[in-house]
Amino acid sequence: MTAYDPDNIFAKILRGEIPSTRVYEDDETLAFMDIMPRADGHLLVIPKTPCRNVLDATSDQLAAVMSTVQKLARAAKAAFDADGVTIQQFNEAAGGQEVFHLHFHVLPRFEGVSMRPPGNMGDFDLIAEHAEKIRAALD
Ligand code: AMP
Repeated sequence: MTAYDPDNIFAKILRGEIPSTRVYEDDETLAFMDIMPRADGHLLVIPKTPCRNVLDATSDQLAAVMSTVQKLARAAKAAFDADGVTIQQFNEAAGGQEVFHLHFHVLPRFEGVSMRPPGNMGDFDLIAEHAEKIRAALD
């Protein structure tokens, strides 16, 4: 497998070299808003330590990230009074991965409402508003 690239965009977010809209963090994980949200409240959860994806992650990294994914999925569902939550995760380019630092997508969902197409930049103020709603819904 290709080596972890410490200059990937999420590594830069972790180091504070590029901005992000953070919603939650603990010692091992960080959750922040996706800049191209495919649903209102679309966020990403990553480990603070390096790994490309599920294929090279340790069980400790996976356990920490999944615990935060569950916490944020519950908060996002409550914040938007959503009907459900989609959790997505991609491995390597052939698997749909574009940023090579392990991440899980968390997307609040409503009955009969499709996800928006990928690749469209979100409105910064709206994303900030959605982040605040999710923060407020955290335990
Ligand atoms: P994938 O690797 O296919 O799971 O997709 C990477 C995700 O990262 C996409 O949903 C992008 O919108 C998102 N993304 C890319 N750059 C940033 C960034 N600087 N801040 C937040 N999300 C980002």
